[in-house]
Amino acid sequence: MELEDFENNLGLETKKKIGDFSKLNGHQFEDYLKELFSILGYQVMRTKLSGDQGADLIIKKDDMKTVVQAKKYAGTVTNKAIQEVVASKKHYGADKAMVVTTGTFTKSAIELAKSNKVEIWDKNKLKEIINSINKTSNKSKGFQNQQSLNLKGDTFPAHCPFCDSEIKLNVKDLPKKNKQKTLSCPECNVDLGISIPDNFYSCIGCKKEFDTVKERIDHSKLCKKVKERQFNCSHCKKEFTLDDDEFKEFTKKGNLKVECPACKKNNMLKK
Ligand SMILES: [Zn+2]
Ligand SMILES: [Zn+2]
Ligand SMILES: [Zn+2]
Repeated sequence: MELEDFENNLGLETKKKIGDFSKLNGHQFEDYLKELFSILGYQVMRTKLSGDQGADLIIKKDDMKTVVQAKKYAGTVTNKAIQEVVASKKHYGADKAMVVTTGTFTKSAIELAKSNKVEIWDKNKLKEIINSINKTSNKSKGFQNQQSLNLKGDTFPAHCPFCDSEIKLNVKDLPKKNKQKTLSCPECNVDLGISIPDNFYSCIGCKKEFDTVKERIDHSKLCKKVKERQFNCSHCKKEFTLDDDEFKEFTKKGNLKVECPACKKNNMLKK
């Protein structure tokens, strides 16, 4: 597997791992929301599991207390949920009330929510919020979590951070240098950003820059400067490539002790 060690750090931007609600049960959905609200900067408390007075979470920010009812439904949420959360707002002495669902609301539930100042999030709103968290967290913090990807033939297998299903990224589909690409997970539909570190576009040997990862890989297979850095492990026989620092030291000293990335055993390289 040539170039494999070089490909190890290819980043699929995995964004916040907060699960995919379509596959969660009611209890897990509450956990999911708990995580979501804490990402949004709330202090989150769960109410007791039984006899919960129509509230599943109590969230607090800037001294404002909000009761949240979580409805893990595929269908529609009716007036009853609105009435319950209004009652629980009173019960907990909260300032605001909210109902969040993975489904939708009936027309009269929407009207009742409006007249009672209950904030409601349906599945579309929920997705919107998740996607906006992803966008802002990428800007401010860079990659949340880089997946390690190995090239298998022409594809990089990656996993959706939301639903964990496998997504096959073809080398040809990777974005051009300095460009981002967005794809929707075929399984859960959440938008995922793919952005690739700069070093994937330049040859590790001759430093030539390429517009696409595919061109760079095709080049590196033939580049003499890459060949100079490639060795086979004396233990497991797998090929590995020296990085810049290792290669510099090897050139200077004429020998180098390196750990094989595959089997972790030491190799003594000599010119
Ligand atoms: Zn997914
Ligand atoms: Zn080259
Ligand atoms: Zn080895």
